[in-house]
Amino acid sequence: MNERDIKEKVRRFRREYGIKRPSLASMQSVFERQGFTIILFNQVINDENVNTIIDNLGLVDMIALSDGFLYLDNNYRLVFLNEKLSDDEKLLVLLHEEGHYYCGHTTQHSVIGKNVVEEHEANEFVHYLQQLPLSVTIGEFISENKRIIAVIALATIIIFLVFGAIKVYHDRMLYEGEYYVTANGEKYHLKQCVTIQGHEIRRLTKEDVLSGRYSPCGICLPED
Ligand SMILES: [Zn+2]
Ligand SMILES: [Zn+2]
Repeated sequence: MNERDIKEKVRRFRREYGIKRPSLASMQSVFERQGFTIILFNQVINDENVNTIIDNLGLVDMIALSDGFLYLDNNYRLVFLNEKLSDDEKLLVLLHEEGHYYCGHTTQHSVIGKNVVEEHEANEFVHYLQQLPLSVTIGEFISENKRIIAVIALATIIIFLVFGAIKVYHDRMLYEGEYYVTANGEKYHLKQCVTIQGHEIRRLTKEDVLSGRYSPCGICLPED
């Protein structure tokens, strides 16, 4: 199988078992749905039942060497899992073994995973299954951060409203504000400006501003 085939397998697996972010519990239940029994073993000492299975199936060497493997024959569907592993390690083993099973490596051997190509495919399966699809990543981010996202959205709206209000206010000030010009002057002023006292003045209009003829007075409207 090439990379695309494996990615397609992972997509189908996700759909079939409703797995987004695989967990130890969800992978255990996948194996159960597939008719497997998970057997926790210890590499050194096991209870009688587990020892009997190991002996009868000729798996003593496998147990000594392995952290986990699948066993399938006409009578058994078993997942062996080293009990000493951490939960994260167990999950990795289950994902890898599921990769073998789901990629169809179960036809030739009773003990699965003995050639390089199959190992590679199982590892690729794990790799793609652990990469969350973008839609899932975004969805999880949103559901985990609902409150923060709501706050950011509200803050954004408030900022837009405030800036909008400031702009409207500013435009009003500019066009219809309390600025005055004299008949021949080229500056606009506050009404109380000393330079226009005693002159005939009129209020600055929008047209005056747009004409570009007037600039602010340096005395009553000093620029910052
Ligand atoms: Zn393997
Ligand atoms: Zn002035």
